[in-house]
Amino acid sequence: MTNNTREKVTASSPTGDPYLLTPGPLTTSPTVKQAMLHDYGSRDSTFIDLNARVLKRLLRIANGEGTHVCVPLQGSGTFVVEAMMGCFVPADGKVLILVNGAYGHRIAKICDYYHRDYLIQECAEDVPVNTEELDATLASDPAISHVVVVYCETTSGILNPLREVSDIVARHQRSLLIDAMSAFGAIALDAREITFDAMVASSNKCLEGAPGVGFCIARESALQQTEGNSPSLSLDLYDQWRAMEKNRQWRFTPPTHVLLAFAQALSEFDDEGGVEGRGNRYQKNCDLLISGMREMGFKTLLPDNLQAPIIITFHMPANPEFKFNAFYDGLREQGYVIYPGKLTVADSFRMGCIGRLGLEQMQGALDAVAKILAKFGIDKIINAE
Ligand SMILES: *Cc1c(COP(=O)(O)O)cnc(C)c1O
Repeated sequence: MTNNTREKVTASSPTGDPYLLTPGPLTTSPTVKQAMLHDYGSRDSTFIDLNARVLKRLLRIANGEGTHVCVPLQGSGTFVVEAMMGCFVPADGKVLILVNGAYGHRIAKICDYYHRDYLIQECAEDVPVNTEELDATLASDPAISHVVVVYCETTSGILNPLREVSDIVARHQRSLLIDAMSAFGAIALDAREITFDAMVASSNKCLEGAPGVGFCIARESALQQTEGNSPSLSLDLYDQWRAMEKNRQWRFTPPTHVLLAFAQALSEFDDEGGVEGRGNRYQKNCDLLISGMREMGFKTLLPDNLQAPIIITFHMPANPEFKFNAFYDGLREQGYVIYPGKLTVADSFRMGCIGRLGLEQMQGALDAVAKILAKFGIDKIINAE
């Protein structure tokens, strides 16, 4: 008999998998996974109708009916971020990128690949983007045509002040592009209140679908002006939009199974009470996780008023007995997958509270952490100052 401890999981999802306390891919419900047990042709009317329903539903989450359109795209979240940048920023445009984490830097890298002129306004990972500085930069540099902001910077879990950013950008009559990947579906983003030309998110974060499709919600009048901008064919959101308007079909092989799962995930999203219901569950998860970890002596990177209920960054304990790899493996063996830190400012690790997880899983993860600390012989966490 083999005894593979790496695979031994004491807590597990209904399909026997460890729970994913990560920024994605995430734990999905059994019914979302089950929805994928069908093969649809891309021209099958059942699939075409389902695709249209998904796009309509996504648009409604942002309250964008009548003003905005929803354009889907194959791939992980980065594909649709890249598509947004390539499509909306023309060759003679100039982008101001508000950066307080790795996802902001990734947008700058995309601009490098696409040879788009850009400027970075950066602040520390534990500080929200600076709106006064944004105001001053836009006032002094008329060449800036677009501003990009990451709504929830998943690097730290910080929530950026989207409302203030959008008000300032609108006042200066520039175009706002939003990476809402890890916020959309759990934190409000209302197109009637926030002025933006495009925002992107994906199937597998707060909307709890399977990974593999992203989408852009764009102001129709702005998208109309992007013809010919995209340096990439497969990532051309304008072309994707036009083609789908014409015959309701995807230009290239659609991720049919992912769309089937997405339709089911959106129906479960509705059952939970939409953005409010989902956001409330995540907030409760987040509160329990933070209070439980603090009770054990762990310290969060962010003060509570900056923390989005998505993913939490904890400082790495300074105890010599605390070894992150053993900590990670120990949690994995008990059925909980966490995530290493991505910070430059501090040694850290992250625990997510999104996906099909509730208080039971949060408490389970806390109990697993306590068990490992006991195994390490640590009864008091030391936090480096
Ligand atoms: C997850 C995420 C992305 C996309 O990452 P992928 O790994 O390509 O799915 C982009 N921006 C933010 C803020 C994210 O959290």
